[in-house]
Amino acid sequence: MPPPSLHHINPGLLEVYTGPMYGGKTDHLKDRIDPILHIHDKPYLWVEPSTNVRKLRVPKRIQRHFFPADHPEKIFEYLNDHPQTRIIAIDEGQFAAHSLVMVVEKLLARNQNVIVGGLDLDFRGETFGCMGDLMARAHYLERCYKGKCHYTGCENVSVRTQRLIDGKPAPYDSPIVIVEDKESKKRKIIYETRCHLHHFVPGKPGVRIIIP
Ligand SMILES: [Zn+2]
Repeated sequence: MPPPSLHHINPGLLEVYTGPMYGGKTDHLKDRIDPILHIHDKPYLWVEPSTNVRKLRVPKRIQRHFFPADHPEKIFEYLNDHPQTRIIAIDEGQFAAHSLVMVVEKLLARNQNVIVGGLDLDFRGETFGCMGDLMARAHYLERCYKGKCHYTGCENVSVRTQRLIDGKPAPYDSPIVIVEDKESKKRKIIYETRCHLHHFVPGKPGVRIIIP
C-alpha cells in the first residue's frame, strides 16, 4: 500500500509509525496533523498516555489530551467532546494498556482515521506493550529509522533502543518502564539508538552478550 497522502484523511484506516527512540515517529504524526490545523473546525484529536512526560516535542499549535495509560477507553470521552473528529493521533502507544487495541478497533469501526506512533521494541529488544498487535492490524505501517547507530565509530542504521545506567548497558531484569523517583534520580539513565550489533542486554535469556 502506498504511503497515505499527508493532506488527506483516510476514514477507517489505521496507520502505525514505529521504530526506536529518536526515529522520527512523532514527526510523522505532526506531519499528518499539520494540514488539518488549517481546516476551520480542526477535526483532529491528539492523545497520549499520561505516563508520557515529554513536553517539548509536540508544538503548542497542536492541542494534546492525556488518558490514563491503564484506561485507554478515556479516548471515547474526548471523542464525545469533539464530535467533529475525523483523524485521531495516538502518540507513545507503547505505554498504553493492551486494551488500546480494542479501542483502536472500535475507532476504526466508527470510520475514524487512526494514526499510532510508538516504540516497536523496549530496551530489551522485545515487543513493547500493545505495539505488536497494532502493527499487525495496521493498514499502513512505517518503520521510522532515522540516523546512525550511536555506538562510537559505527555507521549502521539505528534500529534499537539502548538503555544505559551509569554508562553501562541496563540488565534484562531492569524494569520496562522506569518511573522517575528519588531512587531512579540517583542513577544516570540515558537512552541511545543503536544498531542490532551494538544493542546489549546483559542477562537476556538465550543470548550470549559480549560487550567490547
Ligand atoms: Zn552499531
